[in-house]
Amino acid sequence: MKVIDHIKQAKDTLISFEILPPLKGKTINSIYEHLDPLMEFKPSFINVTYHRSETMFKKKADGTFEKVDIRKRPGTVGICAAIMNHYRIDAVPHLICGGFSKRETEDALIDLNFLGVDNVLVLRGDAAKNESSFEPEPDGNRYALDLLRQVVSLNHGIYIEEDIKNGSRTDFCIGVAGYPEKHFEAPNLDTDIMFLKAKVEAGAEYVTTQMFFDNQKYFDFVKACRDNGIDVPIIPGLKPITNRKQLSMLPKVFHVDLPMDLSNAIMKCKNDEEVEKVGTEWLIHQSKELKSHGVPVLHYYTLGKPKVIFNIVRELV
Ligand code: FAD
Repeated sequence: MKVIDHIKQAKDTLISFEILPPLKGKTINSIYEHLDPLMEFKPSFINVTYHRSETMFKKKADGTFEKVDIRKRPGTVGICAAIMNHYRIDAVPHLICGGFSKRETEDALIDLNFLGVDNVLVLRGDAAKNESSFEPEPDGNRYALDLLRQVVSLNHGIYIEEDIKNGSRTDFCIGVAGYPEKHFEAPNLDTDIMFLKAKVEAGAEYVTTQMFFDNQKYFDFVKACRDNGIDVPIIPGLKPITNRKQLSMLPKVFHVDLPMDLSNAIMKCKNDEEVEKVGTEWLIHQSKELKSHGVPVLHYYTLGKPKVIFNIVRELV
């Protein structure tokens, strides 16, 4: 079922989770172990992130180095199929521009369609680790908007192979990313929202946000989106803080601020166990307030911390 239909049919705020594929070498059981405890909250859908390959230099026996492309976390499509089969819950694969030609994207979409996946979250992806800024493949998509247009075309039965006539139509529900604190490359929030609006006008049916730790930023973002004519559901993305390192890592990697009250409380903690308690309490408060404002879904980035997420969602039901 489509994410947008889950939202339309809901009588209350829904719950959803987001997971990372396990590191290469692990089994699908690591996904089940991660998700099993969270199933009692009846998530409406589960997102699975996509991780592009990284270029690395491996030392050879003769002492010289060889350049290799390694994907540390493959398996997004397979995990989505496994989740749908194992739990009978809708899966939302993330699909990125980076590292894909348009033809490879088309083939991935065909695989997802054959597997019965109804949803995709389309993203640009970040720059490859060895590049200073994002560069698409020579025949790939540059912006999430371009990737979205490709999915919309396939939904209309238009394939890249021009000689395919009367191609079957896919019917993906398409989500996109939004940034309450603006995307780090955007010159200002208004411009970022203008590009978000372009994604919605091109066919995005909902927005999932980057994490934020101050609900007011989400409320202001939603208002700015509404003022600019973006009227699709805006799902808040939520992540718990569980260790002190995140105080500097989250602003650096995700370009988000931590409110002073939260950072002060974390700095007073003696160890990460205490930080986890502070982070859990903070996210429970955030979640309760968002729920009381009638957000469509509370979307939790579980990212290796299912127990913490369990303790948070338990407080809401
Ligand atoms: P875009 O919408 O393409 O925007 C990128 C930048 O370009 C923005 O600054 C925007 O303002 C600007 N822009 C947009 N359109 C235009 C245009 N036409 N002309 C000029 N400028 C433009 N990354 C992964 O690799 N894998 C994942 O699974 C993943 N999941 C994510 C899930 C969520 C909910 C979020 C919020 C992010 C996720 N990311 C993921 C990270 C994401 O790929 C990065 O934040 C990336 O830098 C931007 O992606 P986007 O889809 O927002 O890009």
